[in-house]
Order: sequence, then structure tokens, then C-alpha cells
Amino acid sequence: MLFAKLKLNPYLNIQILGSDLVPTSDYQDYDYIIMTPILILGHGQLGLMLAAEAAKFGIEVDRLDLSSAERLVGTSCRRDKFDEQLIFSHYGKITAELEHLPDTDLIHRIKQSPNWINAQAFTQLIDRSDQKTLLDKLTLPTAPWCSVDTVATLESFNANHPELVVKTTRGGYDGRGQWRVNKNILETIPADQFGKLIAESKINFIRELSIVGARNEQGQCSFHPLAENTHKDGILRYSAVREDIDPELQIEGETLLSSLMTHLNYTGVMAVECFQTDDGLMINEVAPRVHNSGHWSQLGTVHNQFALHMRALLNLPLPKSIEFRPTLMLNLIGCDFNPDWLSVNHVQIHWYGKSLRDGRKMGHINIDAGSERALHDVKKQLAPLLDTEHKQLLKDAVENFQPCT
Ligand code: AMP
Repeated sequence: MLFAKLKLNPYLNIQILGSDLVPTSDYQDYDYIIMTPILILGHGQLGLMLAAEAAKFGIEVDRLDLSSAERLVGTSCRRDKFDEQLIFSHYGKITAELEHLPDTDLIHRIKQSPNWINAQAFTQLIDRSDQKTLLDKLTLPTAPWCSVDTVATLESFNANHPELVVKTTRGGYDGRGQWRVNKNILETIPADQFGKLIAESKINFIRELSIVGARNEQGQCSFHPLAENTHKDGILRYSAVREDIDPELQIEGETLLSSLMTHLNYTGVMAVECFQTDDGLMINEVAPRVHNSGHWSQLGTVHNQFALHMRALLNLPLPKSIEFRPTLMLNLIGCDFNPDWLSVNHVQIHWYGKSLRDGRKMGHINIDAGSERALHDVKKQLAPLLDTEHKQLLKDAVENFQPCT
């Protein structure tokens, strides 16, 4: 078994990782785990982006396609036949790029493994009603809600909350499994969904913000700055990270996230999506994984969310504070790749290599928003290379890029 849990002398250089990871005396009590092979559940772009960061640390990573139970390339060049026993004997840490894991025997066995990280979070956050119950228990602000078993429960909740957002308790994402309801359109919800729904009061928020943070086994946390997110039809279209984030709001976000991570004894990256209201932040949704609204960090900071997840998993020190540049992230949805994007200055193109489908996240563009000049250039050079919808979104994103107040 290639599992090495190293207790390092704080003054030793960690040769395998390079001298920039030499521990300082602050980290004397750490049990570093640097050679543990990692298995990522899922076959999507988040796992690939995690693997790309792991490669920088020389960490062995494989990915597991949960529908075919095939092992996919991460950073290792292993090509042998998938062997279930390997999951339990070889990988020191098993993490996931998605929260909705299929209900299979293999997943049940993985969930019993001591190497499956964040079992508590995956038990308490996955079902929306469990998640909302946890938020209420921890007295963390969230939209008023109820479980919906029958039309009568929905109608009685609707009596006090004239506009509702009804959501499936599991599996809904990117606007799927969600219904906007007012008194006249209760019947839009399919009858077979009752019993698997929650209703939330519709919040008239000022803006949507999210915060991404990481926690390691020592309980040390690091946080990214708040990102402001713009959705269309329930799908994230672009995120903006500004320089002048309201420090009080930032502390509020960090406090919400750290109380969740601490309560769940969490390791790795977690994301919290919030509504900003007149009374402060209100949690919309919690994701026990790296998150689309954190993709800006690949360009905007040296401590991107994928690196933080890997470091936290391996119980390596996390940065005490995270410096960043103002950045925009534009999702590329349901469109084809255009190689000319690569010639645009101040942008970083990420393409996921997936087959084209309407509404599918195909890639994203990170844009350096650190200067007026960069934003101006990007608008001028990139906009003509985008389809009408993305062109408009880019225009909106750049024009709305004003200081947060
Ligand atoms: P979700 O699937 O919960 O992340 O919701 C997707 C998007 O729908 C959110 O980002 C919001 O734009 C919107 N939304 C969800 N819940 C509510 C709510 N209770 N009130 C207002 N808008 C909501």
C-alpha cells in the first residue's frame, strides 16, 4: 500500500514537494500526508481540474466514473483493469467532485470506508430538507421553508408566503428540479414529485454571493473572497470578484462557512451560496465540494480552490490569508469551442472537452479584471468571438463590474 503518513521535522525541507512547501515552526504539530494516492468519485470537469492541481504536488490521483465503474486517468498513468478491492487498499483518501452519488452497492461500500472523507457532510447536506434542517439547527440564516408531501401542505405554506420556490430534495441543479409558484400555478408541479420536495419562500435578494473555503484536519481554515454570482434560469452565468469587498460581509460569509465546516468536522473545500438581503447573508445552498463560482480562483489567486482542496485533504498547511486580483468568470454554456478565444489577452480559457448539449456547461473563461484597460481590451477582443447570448453576458459582466458596497 502506497500510503505514507509523515511526521516531519519542521525544519526539514520536503524534497518531494519542493522548497516552497518547507514547513515553518508554525506547523510543528502537523501530521503531513503527502504521498497518499487519492481517488476522486466522478468523471466530470471538477475532478479533472482537481487532478491538474494534484499534478503540481506530484500526487497520484485517479478518477472513478460512477456510471460505468471505470477508473479514469487523473495524474497516474495506470491503465490496468478496474479492481474494486484497489479502492479500499490503495487510495488513502477518497473524495468526490459531485454530491449526488448514485445509490449503488459500490457507493455504499465506499461510504463505509475510513478513507472516504466527509461522511458526515455527505449524510447531512445532500438531501435539501436535511440541509435546511441542519441550517436551522445551527441557527444559520436560510429562507423560510417546509417539506412538501401534499398539495395541502404547499397551499398552507403558500398562504403565508405568496411567492414560492419549490425544489426537489435531491438531484436538482442548474435550475432543474425547481418550480416558481404563486397561487395560480400550483398545478405546474408534477403529482409524482410530492413527498420529494421542499418549498421555500422566494427571497427578494439584493445580489447573490458565494464563498468558498477550505479546512484541514487540524481545523485550520482559509477563505476566498466573496464572489458575486449572476444566474439565468437557475444556471450560473458569470461570477465577479471585486477588490473592495465589504469586510463585514466577508466576515459574515466566513463565519457561516466555518461554523458549517467545524460542525461537520469537514476537510477539503466547501462552498456556500448566499442571498444578500438587507439583514445580511442568507444561505441558499451548501456544496461539500469545489464549486463553479470558485473557478475564478484559477486566475485570480495562486491559491485556487482545487489546490486548496488537495492541500486540505493531505493535511498540508493552508494559506493564512489569500491574496487575489479582481477577476471575472464567464461560463460557456451550450456553445462550441472557438480557438480564436486563445488569442485574446487577459483571459484564461478552460474547455471541458464534453459533447455539446443545450444548457450544458462546456467551459469557462477567467478574465483578469484588475484594470480598466484589461476589461476594455477583453470586451473589445473577446465579444466579437462570442455568440449573441454570451456576448451580451460578457457586456453585462464587464459593465456591472463596479465596486461592491
Ligand atoms: P438552487 O438550485 O437552489 O441553487 O437555485 C438556483 C437559483 O435559483 C439561485 O441561484 C437563485 O437565483 C434562485 N433561487 C433559488 N432559491 C431561491 C429563493 N428561495 N428565492 C429566490 N430565488 C431563489
